[in-house]
Amino acid sequence: METPAQASENDAARTFAYRRCAEQQPDVQTGGQSGGQSDVQATPRPVVVIGAGPVGLATAIDLAQQQVPVVLLDDDCTLASGSRAICFAKRTLEIFDRLGCGERLVDKGVRWHVGRVFFDREQVYSFDLLPESGHHRPAFINLQQYYVEGYLVDRAGELPGLELRWRHRVSGLRQQADQVVLTVSTPDGDYALAARYVVVADGARSPVRQLMGLQSQGRTFRDRFLIADVRMAAGFPAERWFWFDPPFNRNQSVLLHRQPDNIWRIDFQLGWDADPEQERQPERVLPRLRALLGPDAQFELVWVSVYTFSCQRMERFRHGRVLFAGDAAHRVSPFGARGANSGVQDAENLAWKLRLVLAGLAPDALLDTYASEREYAADENILHSTRSTDFITPKSATSRVFRDAVLRLARQHPFARQLVNSGRLSTPTVLAPSPLNTPDTAPFAGAMVPGAVCADAPVRVVGSKAQGEEGWLLPHLGNGFTALVFADARGLSPAACTALERLGAAPVPVKVVCLISPAPPESPASPMPCAPTLPRGSVVLEDIDGLAARRYDGQPGTCYLLRPDQHVCARWRQVEHDALLTALRRALGMIDVQWRAAPGEPQRQAAQLVTDPNLAQPDDVYASLLEMHRDLSDAQSQAANAQLILLLANHIGDTAVLRQAMALARAAVPPAVADPQADAAVPIPVPA
Ligand SMILES: Cc1cc2nc3c(=O)[nH]c(=O)nc-3n(C[C@H](O)[C@H](O)[C@H](O)COP(=O)(O)OP(=O)(O)OC[C@H]3O[C@@H](n4cnc5c(N)ncnc54)[C@H](O)[C@@H]3O)c2cc1C
Repeated sequence: METPAQASENDAARTFAYRRCAEQQPDVQTGGQSGGQSDVQATPRPVVVIGAGPVGLATAIDLAQQQVPVVLLDDDCTLASGSRAICFAKRTLEIFDRLGCGERLVDKGVRWHVGRVFFDREQVYSFDLLPESGHHRPAFINLQQYYVEGYLVDRAGELPGLELRWRHRVSGLRQQADQVVLTVSTPDGDYALAARYVVVADGARSPVRQLMGLQSQGRTFRDRFLIADVRMAAGFPAERWFWFDPPFNRNQSVLLHRQPDNIWRIDFQLGWDADPEQERQPERVLPRLRALLGPDAQFELVWVSVYTFSCQRMERFRHGRVLFAGDAAHRVSPFGARGANSGVQDAENLAWKLRLVLAGLAPDALLDTYASEREYAADENILHSTRSTDFITPKSATSRVFRDAVLRLARQHPFARQLVNSGRLSTPTVLAPSPLNTPDTAPFAGAMVPGAVCADAPVRVVGSKAQGEEGWLLPHLGNGFTALVFADARGLSPAACTALERLGAAPVPVKVVCLISPAPPESPASPMPCAPTLPRGSVVLEDIDGLAARRYDGQPGTCYLLRPDQHVCARWRQVEHDALLTALRRALGMIDVQWRAAPGEPQRQAAQLVTDPNLAQPDDVYASLLEMHRDLSDAQSQAANAQLILLLANHIGDTAVLRQAMALARAAVPPAVADPQADAAVPIPVPA
């Protein structure tokens, strides 16, 4: 593993040395001299990952931690430079915990969970992304992408099965029946590298996607954003502040985030007509910053760039033995921080599937579910990201009127705050329609449905060397399948214990974690209960505050089957061996990997829009409508109408009824009149 050739105080400047590799030595090649496409090593590597950005690094580390030898190639020798990702979400931190570097990220990052939204000069409202306690990781940290990548590179260096090759650029790719052969270009020339599977995480432009003649399609937004990172000692709290139409950037938006090292990220919306070259010049940037920070503010410009954003994805993330992940597969606008965060979830979804397929423990079809699950997640992220961008940058005068109406109402009316969309911040996708899930057979409350990511909770270790140690549930779940079972102080029935112990003979190892309810306070009247009856070999944890039971709706006997990526795949009210084994086989892709339709809302009778006369005092209503607009300009009338519609929509509440009303309203719009003269010539129809 490479060590930084030059580590400076500023992690952004770390560079890594190019090294020759085994495939560049003639003796490990078959077919003669090294350096040509035909020179392929005798045994293909299990996995080659292309691109050492956050997604490629996370994939490679996850594989190496699961004992899958992996080669990670990057065409460059530096970390991400400039303004890239800063907001890393709770789930990503939990994944990085499993990858062995979460603590370092959280220690360095700026924790935050509160956001504030301003319109013009006033705060409209504030929100809290994690109002409840009992979670190890914060809702978000802000940390420059180069730190994240640097810490991942350091972690990669600790893993013997991971070989990270800097300045090894993939310049060719050939798929064969049982392997993929890459051409890798280096300062010493080209060499061939064969792998059973290739993960492509080479970023949004994805040269490898282009080499394969594939495309990523979607929308590019006609807007530009100036992103300025400034160093300053400012007293703003560690919160996300978003301004719509502030006096210091009229008709546009501004976003402020705090990063470590006294660096602040400020995004100014510029509009489509802005000249990117001019806008990044200090003489344009500094006045913008002074208008926001005050004329006397002391700050130093660290980085400035001008961006446009796209929302797009590849149609399919799997092409034979080549699997696409991260920005190479899908792209979103940064509002909502869904780029790197969702890419890291791709990585963790893919790593365990590759391990099991390579080990012959799961069919190749399991990899199809990587594609279908993450394509589904990408659609959700793109939908959120597109809607945020549409709200932030209204595309027409009417959408602007509605946007402003929402913001005006949101000051006083909580319902309108639900509609404000300054970025729906990244949360993990619930893979509800995944074919790897077993549908529930009993009612459960709460959010831990099949497909959801496991919630964390505080726990205390019982009955092992670590007895009494307090910690968190998620780290106890590990890298493999887990049966998570809830028990009271008496433990489980003998039948349940036997069923769980027999999991030792399952196609893949299943760890058993028993969560027992907190011990009742000791009293002379209630003697100490005997030790609970629990399956041999299980990890036993006390559910310290009963939070796990609450979050999982866990009753004594409740059993969850969890995937290696900590997604729920099945749950029952009682442990039953055959049901567990069948669910496990399903989660391994052995039963059915066809994607299911998303479970919709429960079927109910669609309500009908009332179009029959329903007004008690129709003339009063009509007169009131006119009265509402008295002395208003056209612009004010439009604003009042939009606010009225939003208030009534909230009152009606039923989306189906609202859609019927919208359809009727649209159908009744008169056609645009191109030529008033021609219109005047049309005879007036006479009723029969
Ligand atoms: C202004 C901005 C703000 C953002 N903010 C956030 C945020 O707050 N939160 C968030 O989650 N996301 C954010 N993002 C998105 C985030 O930066 C990306 O989603 C993330 O970098 C994607 O990671 P990746 O590993 O897929 O690709 P990349 O980070 O692009 O890495 C790709 C790697 O592949 C290498 N490579 C390319 N071609 C080859 C080749 N032929 N051979 C070998 N190697 C190759 C490149 O050198 C690079 O190292 C932001 C993006 C921008 C632009």
